Amino acid sequence: MPIDFRAALNDEQYDAVTAPAAPLLVLAGAGSGKTRTLTYRVAWLISRGVPPGEILLLTFTNKAANEMLHRVEELTGIGPRRFWGGTFHSLGNRALRLYGDQIGLARGFTILDADESETLLKRCVEDCDKTFFKNKTYPRPGPLFSILSLARNTQQSIATTVRKNFPQHSEIEHRLDDFAASYEKAKREQAVVDYDDLLELWLRLLSESQTVADYFAQRFRYLLVDEYQDTNTLQAQIVDKLAPHHCITAVGDDAQCIYSWRGADFENIMRFPDRHPDTAIHRIETNYRSTPDILAYANAVLQAQPLGRHFDKELRSARAPYQKPHLVETVDDREQAEFVLKRIRALIEDEGVSASEIAILYRSHFLALEMQLALARTGLPYQITSGVKFFERQHIRDLVALLRFIYNPTDTLAWQRIATLLPKVGEKGAQKIHAAARDHAVLLQSDFVAALATDDVLSKVPKDAREEWPHFCASLAEVAAELRDGRAPALAVEHAIEGWYGDYLRGAFADYAERLDELKALATFATRFDTVDDFLSQIVLLNGETADARSATDAEKPAAAIRLTTIHQAKGLEYDVVFLIGLADGQFPSRRAIDAGDIEEERRLFYVAVTRAKNELYLSYPKVASRPGPGGMMNTPSRFLLEVPDTLYERLRIKRRFDWRR
Ligand code: ATP
Ligand code: MG
Repeated sequence: MPIDFRAALNDEQYDAVTAPAAPLLVLAGAGSGKTRTLTYRVAWLISRGVPPGEILLLTFTNKAANEMLHRVEELTGIGPRRFWGGTFHSLGNRALRLYGDQIGLARGFTILDADESETLLKRCVEDCDKTFFKNKTYPRPGPLFSILSLARNTQQSIATTVRKNFPQHSEIEHRLDDFAASYEKAKREQAVVDYDDLLELWLRLLSESQTVADYFAQRFRYLLVDEYQDTNTLQAQIVDKLAPHHCITAVGDDAQCIYSWRGADFENIMRFPDRHPDTAIHRIETNYRSTPDILAYANAVLQAQPLGRHFDKELRSARAPYQKPHLVETVDDREQAEFVLKRIRALIEDEGVSASEIAILYRSHFLALEMQLALARTGLPYQITSGVKFFERQHIRDLVALLRFIYNPTDTLAWQRIATLLPKVGEKGAQKIHAAARDHAVLLQSDFVAALATDDVLSKVPKDAREEWPHFCASLAEVAAELRDGRAPALAVEHAIEGWYGDYLRGAFADYAERLDELKALATFATRFDTVDDFLSQIVLLNGETADARSATDAEKPAAAIRLTTIHQAKGLEYDVVFLIGLADGQFPSRRAIDAGDIEEERRLFYVAVTRAKNELYLSYPKVASRPGPGGMMNTPSRFLLEVPDTLYERLRIKRRFDWRR
């Protein structure tokens, strides 16, 4: 049966879908059907006799590509396998497998994951300069990798990148080119590539081999790109090289550009018409996703942005009015979680809403800790998009291991986890150190942690770790002192963060600030427990529960699970009901963005969050900070909440079971 394009699309969408083969930019706000337009354009091309093999579809996630191609199959009967569709990285991989030999890449190359790439870079740096990582002021492998990666993704020199984004490392700027060159050489020798290579080498292939470039240009006569606002320079250049014929359909929303920390630059979408002559710009002004009430709120968020460089858009809802977004003030994180769960129960049990149509969104992982704990207790099915649940995260497990070891020094697994974080200490080495400390402790009947700091033990510590060893021992001793005499665990956690472990984290990870925030959330969680064994056993139990929840969700894929996700990962998606939690200033916008004086990207992120909701939107913030911030114990509401006129939302009062004022 022929597809009724007229019935499925509004006029603006129909025009874009059926536009002649020429550069086409669909520029429209959230929920206006950009992704739908792209999907129908594929179906349209096919209905006009274009062979599927001539179509190349680029999306932000593989999941998005699969969904779109399945929809095309429903419409046209042509299966996803007949298309090239996926992320830039996955298609780069495919192109390089086929033609990488043209630029000297071995056919059987393997791809390093992020950890492996960092390890290789670390080795290369040490080959150039044995003592580099000994200098505490120099970046550790993780942060160093991020600098090089940003330079590659933005196609800027390392010097420029350091000056612009990492001025604290300008001292070593001139040495980084050598490190990068040595890293490149090592990868080629080993026939491996990293993630960035999948883009960088793809671009090189298209630039250096005219045969390959011609082949691609002839083969893919139609290029379609979703979420174009989040392409970085490399990706935009790949698109341009792939399509010298300029037959590109790009859709995007400059107001939703949220990946600049990965090199995305919304100037790419602003300049699209300059790079592709005679671009037809299509706008869609109807929003099909959200109620007018939610949309009015979203429009107000955009209107609050300073007049910068952006395309003007105003959205009208195609739907009937329903209810205004709700603003919910709770006493603290705990009450916030209780509120959300109570509302979710009513939605699922009384109002027949499917759990999979409910999402809890937040700015950063640590803001969802209380939510996860509460959900784990209720047994409601839930899924965390990032995949790794709070207590399974590496740094949380490290810190728990550190406490476990101090609580029980014969717990060798806990010891191994901690000790192997030291430079050049492997499993065997950790065992040797442990044995030496144990012998010493037994001999002198002294305490185990104190024994670590003795010369007998030091002699078993590898040379590379000796410099930090005293700091390591002193920090453990401090934590141990805090735990002595059955004292509560909260301060011990704090000491651990402020001591050696915190320093380790700062050196090891580019995103250490976020990890520290999560550890602070762990410290706050610890305040609920009077004894360390209670705290540690509770974590094991919770972990068991979340592990069960995970095996159920991953293996059997229950039809419906509540979605917990950061806003970044909710891009492009939609839910009947959205809870946006943790809206205190300093949490969202984040303290770091406020300090850096750059909150525009945070505002766009807020806009993305609000526009995920179809029917109901709850915006909540806890009044009492779980940790004192610059303003003391009290939070102030996010500035984004205050910017929206109060006629556009409704305050929701929470009925408290215990009125603490009485
Ligand atoms: P985002 O900016 O969040 O990526 P988008 O512009 O890509 O949003 P879509 O996800 O394509 O928007 O569409 C939003 C919702 O509106 C979807 O559920 C889609 O099916 C629906 N929709 C879009 N256009 C129409 C239409 N003409 N008729 C009915 N429903 C529509
Ligand atoms: Mg979309």
